[in-house]
Amino acid sequence: MPGRDISVCFTMDCERIREFSPPGGPADWALSERSIAGFADTLEHRGATGTFFIVPETAEQHASLFRSLRNRGFELGLHYHPQAFLDGRYGRYLGEYTRSEQKEQLAAAKNRWEDHLGLPCASFRSGNFSASDDTFPVLAEMGFRQTSSSLPGRHAPQIAADWVGAQMHPHRTDAVNRLASGQLSLFEVPVTADPTGERPGGGVDPLHLRLESIARAPYRQDNTVLGPERASTQTRPEDFFALAERMVRDQVDKQIPVKTIVAGTHNMFEFGHPDDIVSSYLIALIDQLKQIAVRNGLTVIPATIEDIRKGMDES
Ligand SMILES: [Zn+2]
Repeated sequence: MPGRDISVCFTMDCERIREFSPPGGPADWALSERSIAGFADTLEHRGATGTFFIVPETAEQHASLFRSLRNRGFELGLHYHPQAFLDGRYGRYLGEYTRSEQKEQLAAAKNRWEDHLGLPCASFRSGNFSASDDTFPVLAEMGFRQTSSSLPGRHAPQIAADWVGAQMHPHRTDAVNRLASGQLSLFEVPVTADPTGERPGGGVDPLHLRLESIARAPYRQDNTVLGPERASTQTRPEDFFALAERMVRDQVDKQIPVKTIVAGTHNMFEFGHPDDIVSSYLIALIDQLKQIAVRNGLTVIPATIEDIRKGMDES
């Protein structure tokens, strides 16, 4: 019975190394590879799955690893930061560009991604969740079927990432309003966030399920957290897990037909390493979500973003 399921998707944004990625990235390719492989192994060992959003140069660097992950059931999508693409010729955030500029850049990025991996690309996440009202219709025209490019409640207009008033649950996108549900063939699957709640540190983001937002003293000096979020990412672990429970219960109370949890992270942490605090939070979140689901009369369905879109198509 679909209404008693909750689809749980773990996502990782796979950035270029920091040297070539002004918005942030792993220190080197070796860490990137360990992080991606460790994330996949951890999910698999615990019966979870998810989606990797990959910038084109990282797709090239780890092409065989990503192809093997695809064969293991993970989804591969495109991640795009203009500032980290090619030789750094684009200096702004995606939503700051015109419709035709977005289309030109995204087409070039998609082509490169598909060439490197030898696979068609139908899923997308915008870097820094930057988007304008043109972004979804452009993606739909290009043949993308699903995106996960919104963080409901994020208020960062200075980087064209304003999601105040956005839909909180998966929906068909709209041709003229990125905040609305509409009739385009493209589905948006938002990251799980509580736009009605507090904003840690008075920052741009409400509480949301990004693993590295959990307070982790050893990492404070490490400049691995992406730029605009830096001041607002510290969430106490108890608040993070309370958020997960609240967002599950909220969907039950509102009788949302396709219930989802979408969590995120980056290829910058030592996933699978027992001493890594972010990796330990991933394991805790996987386990806690199963318990939260049971307490709310639900069954966890491990899902990719594409799986969630297919569930919407059938509902
Ligand atoms: Zn990114």
